Amino acid sequence: MTAAFDRLVVATLPLVPRAFVRRVASRYVAGETLDDALSTVRALAAEGAMATLDILGERVTRKEQTEAMRGQYLRVIDAIASKGLDANVSVKPTAVGLAIDPALALDNCAEICARAAAHGMFVRLDMEDSPYTEPTLRLALELKAKFPAVGVALQAYLKRSLKDLDRLIAAGMNVRICKGIYVEPRAIAWRERAAIIDSFGALVDKHLSAGCYAAIATHDEACVQHALATIDRLRLGPDRYEFQMLLGVDPVLRRSLLDAGHRLRVYVPFGGDWYAYSTRRLKENPSIARQVIRATLGLGPAA
Ligand SMILES: Cc1cc2nc3c(=O)[nH]c(=O)nc-3n(C[C@H](O)[C@H](O)[C@H](O)COP(=O)(O)OP(=O)(O)OC[C@H]3O[C@@H](n4cnc5c(N)ncnc54)[C@H](O)[C@@H]3O)c2cc1C
Repeated sequence: MTAAFDRLVVATLPLVPRAFVRRVASRYVAGETLDDALSTVRALAAEGAMATLDILGERVTRKEQTEAMRGQYLRVIDAIASKGLDANVSVKPTAVGLAIDPALALDNCAEICARAAAHGMFVRLDMEDSPYTEPTLRLALELKAKFPAVGVALQAYLKRSLKDLDRLIAAGMNVRICKGIYVEPRAIAWRERAAIIDSFGALVDKHLSAGCYAAIATHDEACVQHALATIDRLRLGPDRYEFQMLLGVDPVLRRSLLDAGHRLRVYVPFGGDWYAYSTRRLKENPSIARQVIRATLGLGPAA
């Protein structure tokens, strides 16, 4: 399949029936229920991997929806703790109200962080699209002042990120470094793959050199290789960083990092609101055309 054809299929994805998208996307999502998610966490633990649980849903518009999301996170945290699993939670700030009112998001997150802290658990704020970059960083810094076990994500494609990292380093923040998944204007985001990889490496180097804990979230061998070289140069023990990967993406790379003794955490999304997350994943999968067509034709997943 040519890249042009892949792009054509991606453009027509909204026309593909949701049932087909769901079938192809099921590898990226643990299921609809908390039990589904906990089974996935157990399976990952058997492989030697840790997990971070994400309840699907984003950009909600009503306060009651944010309260429902907060309640679900509290139940997830209690379940992880009561079952003694090596997992934490990842929260999308707009799912708890950042697009409605930053104060609402702060209240909801503070409750989530307080419950997590009671169990000695870490909470990560995901980073969403650029209108929420600054509000998310502020939210993370406000939470960090009260709850030590809070971290945030930074996106290597954003030109501002290297500078933003200064504030996070000053706060001693645990930062997840990823490339970034949203479509951003060229004025604020690098577009070239090489530039994004360089930016990713610069963020990892700066954060680890400052003595801060980094979560290196990528499936790109070039980014992994650069991070490994930095870890080696700085002589960091495996308690100073972790690799992170998405559920359903590149189990071979996952295995090789675990076998080499690195800590690795898998991002495990679950819940009924799977469509937006799944289509973002499908759009970055180079074999999407083949898979969507197979599902649309009623064929099983490609090997
Ligand atoms: C744990 C984790 C948390 C994340 N959190 C955020 C966040 O908070 N905010 C944000 O904007 N982004 C987040 N991302 C997404 C990230 O920004 C990238 O979009 C995504 O990880 C793909 O980038 P990559 O570094 O893997 O490089 P890519 O160059 O996209 O991928 C490298 C290789 O990985 C494989 N691959 C990548 N994606 C897929 C896929 N979907 N299906 C099959 N194969 C694939 C392909 O073989 C590809 O060649 C997160 C990613 C991870 C791993």
